[in-house]
Amino acid sequence: MRIDIITVLPQLLESPFQHSILKRAIDKGIAQVNLINLRDYSTHNQKSVDDYAFGGGAGMVMSIEPIANCINALKAERMYDEVIYTSPDGETLNQKMANQLSTYNNIIILCGHYKGVDQRVRDHFITKEISIGDYVLSGGELAAAVICDSIIRIIPGAISDETSALTDSFQDNLLAPPVYTRPAEYNGWKVPDILLSGHTKNIDNWRDEQSLDRTQKRRPDLLK
Ligand code: SAH
Repeated sequence: MRIDIITVLPQLLESPFQHSILKRAIDKGIAQVNLINLRDYSTHNQKSVDDYAFGGGAGMVMSIEPIANCINALKAERMYDEVIYTSPDGETLNQKMANQLSTYNNIIILCGHYKGVDQRVRDHFITKEISIGDYVLSGGELAAAVICDSIIRIIPGAISDETSALTDSFQDNLLAPPVYTRPAEYNGWKVPDILLSGHTKNIDNWRDEQSLDRTQKRRPDLLK
C-alpha cells in the first residue's frame, strides 16, 4: 500500500514512521509512506500556501492552487482509491473504516492548517473526509499519523503474529479482555487462576466473557 501525505510540515511526520510496527511494515515493503511538501507546489516567490479569508475574519485559509497542483501531479502518476482530507467535521475514524482503508492500494492524505483549506478543494478533489475525534488540532499531521498507524498495523504481515490485530478492541465490536504477564503474584495481587491453568478452551471462553462484560460496562453502544 502506498500513502502520500501532503503537508506543510513534513518534519512533524518523520518520527511516527521510524519506529516499531510502522517502521517494520515500511522496511518490509508492506507499506510505503511518502511525505510531500506542499510548498514545493507553490508558485509564489515566498512559497506561501495560504491567504486571507474572503469575507474577512481571523485566520488564514489554505489556497487551492498549490493543493490542486500537487494532487494533479500525483494523480498523473497513478490511480488513487481515496483522496482524504483530515478535518474535524469529517466522518469519525473507527476500526471499520481503518479495516476498509487498509485494503486499498494508493491513498492521498491532505493535512490542513490554519482555518482549513479553501472549500473548493474539498468540493472538487477530496473523496473522503476523516476526523480523529471531536476536538480541534492545530494541523492535520497528527491526525494523518493516527490514520496511517490504524491502517498500516492491520495490513497482513505488518504484525508478526497476524491474529494479534484481530483480537484487539473494536474488531467484532468488542473491547479486548484484560491481559496479564509475569509475575503471577505481585504485592498479593494475583493473576486469575484460569490464565495459569493451561486449558486453552477455558481460557478462550474466559476471555470472551471478559470481552463481553467489559464492552457491556464501558461501551454498550458497540453491542447495539
Ligand atoms: N477551522 C476548522 C479547524 C481547523 S484546524 C474548524 O473549525 O473546523 C486546522 C487543521 O487541523 C484542519 O484543517 C484539519 O486538517 C486538522 N484537524 C484539526 N482537528 C482535527 C480532527 N479532529 N481530526 C482531523 N483533522 C483535524
